[in-house]
Amino acid sequence: MKILLASLCVISLLVILPSVFAASSSSEDFDFFYFVQQWPGSYCDTQKKCCFPTSGKPAADFGIHGLWPNYKDGTYPSNCDDTKPFDKSTISDLITSMKRSWPTLACPSGSGDAFWEHEWEKHGTCSESVIDQHEYFQTALNLKQKTDLLGALTKAGINPDGNSYSLESIRDSIKESIGFTPWIECNRDESGNSQLYQVYLCVDRSGSGLIECPVFPHGKCGAEIEFPSF
Ligand code: 5GP
Ligand code: 5GP
Repeated sequence: MKILLASLCVISLLVILPSVFAASSSSEDFDFFYFVQQWPGSYCDTQKKCCFPTSGKPAADFGIHGLWPNYKDGTYPSNCDDTKPFDKSTISDLITSMKRSWPTLACPSGSGDAFWEHEWEKHGTCSESVIDQHEYFQTALNLKQKTDLLGALTKAGINPDGNSYSLESIRDSIKESIGFTPWIECNRDESGNSQLYQVYLCVDRSGSGLIECPVFPHGKCGAEIEFPSF
């Protein structure tokens, strides 16, 4: 009997232990990405102001903010691997596109390196189970190409002209043209008006396609929001 019990114990340990380790090693895994784009006009017209990148004023278009691994419960991992610092040499073939599609607007003016480094270290390192550094930036650039937010809005008569538009019409026009429901984040201009700041779309774990968001971020815009020029 003792031998039987002892062997049962050993067997159950053999079964349980690997699953415990598997659980802990996947603790930095994630369920989906938010692909976040920012409207430069709304970054720049706040009290904080902005600075154009050293390469000059970006196009009047949405720019990439980041590709953020997230959990379905709304929480997210960050700064997952400090042994994999940002290494510009691994993405030298992407820099021209990054300057165009992922411009920095923070002050003081920079080339973009600091922004990209921050995004890689805070968010990118949490997607390493699926994509490496080059793939991380390439994936974001591909997504930007596939999601023409400004085109979706202007097709619906929603233009960056300083006028106000209903949040619903903004959401609907993006859903209509991109095929998935976006999350709209607002911020405030210098006079305190609520305005269209960032658009969130959800992307599957592999980074290959858009999905409906498993969970939306929090925050409120108001029913009518401004779309400032840039
Ligand atoms: P803020 O507090 O300005 O909205 O966000 C600050 C930063 O927190 C964002 O730029 C981003 O790095 C991170 N962040 C905010 N919300 C989320 C989220 O829902 N998911 C992830 N992955 N990061 C977030
Ligand atoms: P997150 O909000 O992703 O945590 O981090 C944003 C960080 O990147 C902030 O520290 C911010 O100062 C810096 N940053 C540099 N350029 C930009 C930009 O164009 N837009 C935003 N939102 N943050 C930028």
